Amino acid sequence: MPGKIRALMVGAHPDDCEICFGGIAALYAEAGHEVLFLVMTDGGAGHQIMKRDALIKHRQREAAQAAEILGVNCKILPVPDGRLQADLKTRQQLLREVRRFRPDVIFTHRLDDYHPDHRATVQLVYDISFVCIVPKIFPRAKPLPVPPVILHAQPAKTKTRLDVYVEISRIWKRKLLALDAHASQMYEWLPWTSRAEVPSGADKRLAWLEKNRKKPGVLLAAACRKKKKTCGFRLVEGFSTALPGVGAETSRAVLDKLLPFGKIITGA
Ligand SMILES: [Zn+2]
Repeated sequence: MPGKIRALMVGAHPDDCEICFGGIAALYAEAGHEVLFLVMTDGGAGHQIMKRDALIKHRQREAAQAAEILGVNCKILPVPDGRLQADLKTRQQLLREVRRFRPDVIFTHRLDDYHPDHRATVQLVYDISFVCIVPKIFPRAKPLPVPPVILHAQPAKTKTRLDVYVEISRIWKRKLLALDAHASQMYEWLPWTSRAEVPSGADKRLAWLEKNRKKPGVLLAAACRKKKKTCGFRLVEGFSTALPGVGAETSRAVLDKLLPFGKIITGA
């Protein structure tokens, strides 16, 4: 692996990468590493009022703004939101992007996710994890020399894998502002799905967003302090390694190199 780490974050919809990996993405970018958010669908289903075509354009602008705040690049594939499938055509689309970007590590959704597009994204990442090195498969794009390491959002429930917890307090405000950039989701669509009340006024709604979005990271930090009192973590993003045999073999030493930030690693 060269000095510069190449981190590919693959999410199903515009806003998923920011929600799951916004903190670590900002840490990578700040340290001069290369980050690409690859969004597998156009986001055209995520609103209760806006029409599909207008929404796709609106979300492209939101995603571009969020990527700029975090210091990363973002690419959205033209696959309809809500219709992502782990089929051959989409696999080749992902393979092309992976071979273009040539990642050392791929971050993606959790294995047991609630959303079919998220689960299809994980399946697609798994499907390219080996064939990305096979020259005769999709020969138009140069194969990778070795498979990338694959990490899932959130710690795993099984004990056979490694979990990594990264402290993100220092760059939290940037993650928060990146989420704020996805206004159609954070303040309109997602609250509509859960019947949540959003306060009016920019300051009040940002404070509301911070309170809600900080909670999982604060709970994870508390779990970290339970495992290792001296870590002093306050706000955390957690990841888990892929199923055994998927992507590059992932040891503690490999994770140390790929995540050169304040972290703790647990598991077998
Ligand atoms: Zn999503």
